[in-house]
Amino acid sequence: SETPSALTILFGATGDLAKRKLYPSLYRLYRKGHLASGFAVIGTARREWDNDIFREHVKKSVIELTTDQDQIEEFISHFYYLPHDVSDSNSYIELRTLANELDNRYSLGGNRLFYLAMAPEFFGTIADHLKQDNLTDTEGFGRLVIEKPFGHDLPSAQELNAQIRRSFDEKDIYRIDHYLGKEMVQNIESIRFANALFEPLWNNRYISNIQITSSETLGVEERGGYYETSGALKDMVQNHMLQMVSLLAMEPPISLQDDDIRSEKVRAFRSMRPLTLETVNEYFVRGQYGPGENGDMLGYREELNVNPESNTETYVAGKVMFDNFRWAGVPFYIRTGKRMPLKSTKIVVQFKDIPMNLYYRPDEQELEPNLLVIHIQPEEGITLHLNAKRAGHQLETNPVKLSYANSGTDIMNTPEAYEKLIHDAMRGDSTNFTHWDEVALSWSFVDVIAEAWRNEKAAYPNYPAGTTGPKAADELLEQDGFFWWPLD
Ligand code: NAD
Repeated sequence: SETPSALTILFGATGDLAKRKLYPSLYRLYRKGHLASGFAVIGTARREWDNDIFREHVKKSVIELTTDQDQIEEFISHFYYLPHDVSDSNSYIELRTLANELDNRYSLGGNRLFYLAMAPEFFGTIADHLKQDNLTDTEGFGRLVIEKPFGHDLPSAQELNAQIRRSFDEKDIYRIDHYLGKEMVQNIESIRFANALFEPLWNNRYISNIQITSSETLGVEERGGYYETSGALKDMVQNHMLQMVSLLAMEPPISLQDDDIRSEKVRAFRSMRPLTLETVNEYFVRGQYGPGENGDMLGYREELNVNPESNTETYVAGKVMFDNFRWAGVPFYIRTGKRMPLKSTKIVVQFKDIPMNLYYRPDEQELEPNLLVIHIQPEEGITLHLNAKRAGHQLETNPVKLSYANSGTDIMNTPEAYEKLIHDAMRGDSTNFTHWDEVALSWSFVDVIAEAWRNEKAAYPNYPAGTTGPKAADELLEQDGFFWWPLD
């Protein structure tokens, strides 16, 4: 559908996220003609910049994307800047005056996207002011786009939610989980619901287990201070990992409308088997990286701004069970960690073995199971692992792979996650944002794990930097008769 004209008011315009993701995404949308001719952006932050400095800043962040100088100049002419103090009404009154002026100049119909690219501690104050100081009171839409983290446990998320709900309805709140903007995460739905081949098998009769891995090679780098208060469980599992789980586990929605998909995701979250303080360690294991085996990488506890006795996990593996008809008995294994050997996010759906093996294979005794692998990043694609007859006279089989990879040119044209999400928010499509109910349910699942782990100090470090994680993560699958499929 057409993108309506809108004013984007960006809080945190001088920040890292804005520079690395938001301006390039806006530029790509602009270049593809997805921004209505009447778009405008007001950037705000503490610094005393003016329009010229701001436009130079925006230009620098997109300059690599084009050689078309005129186009860049035209693009940045839509950007305006106001220095801003988030807790001062005068700032908002100035902002409102400029917003109204741009509304007229560009015929924006009073449509406003308030994008908060700032620390969450400011969300409540900003949302309150936007309403009190009459920035939301226009003819058009007023949507609030907010970044993660959404709280650090259920009570803090509830508090944050109550704050923003004083000024915005749930339908106007767009909570970003940038994994939901990724092409291949969105593809989970299409693979499941557009193929006669998969949906009939998508249950506990044919699937033995599902594995979702998101591994990083980096350590915490200079984010030690932040990471100490978060850890892999809150940074990755509560949001990205459980979102992918819910997309894989949900029932087919009655339509692809945002409300219909969300309600199925919420039902999936509700059927996750809850953990208790006593059962956490049967289902979840944690890890923290130590120094690399050949002394090339620091251990987590040696990193900048990290407590030398830190109890923070840099790795989590877990088993999520769904107590419903479709999935009873099928483990969803998830793992995510820093300082692993490879950067990769992928999903492996392992099908059950066939009832008996008629084939002899000289090298291995058993047939390989069928696997459906969804490569999310950095490769994007799908691989189906099958068994086929080996050429020759004997009845031997060979494993074969059918692969579909988004090719180089496809990837270049694949919109970045943020580009899609901004476009969706402008068009009012909230499918790929997280609804409050999902946030609340995933926090209540994760809070129990966090509490169990807070109460009990872990034997860290328990995996060397550059390896696949602690032994306990392998044992988690071995006890069920499975193993992790290799990272690559
Ligand atoms: P940042 O620290 O680089 O930028 C923060 C911005 O907020 C700056 O523009 C700063 O001027 C402004 N600001 C801070 N205090 C202010 C105040 N009192 N009044 C007015 N303006 C103020 O942060 P960032 O990395 O851009 O991240 C912003 C948000 O996005 C955070 O919530 C973060 O968790 C989230 N996020 C960031 C990334 C990323 O890649 N950087 C990824 C995912 C989520």
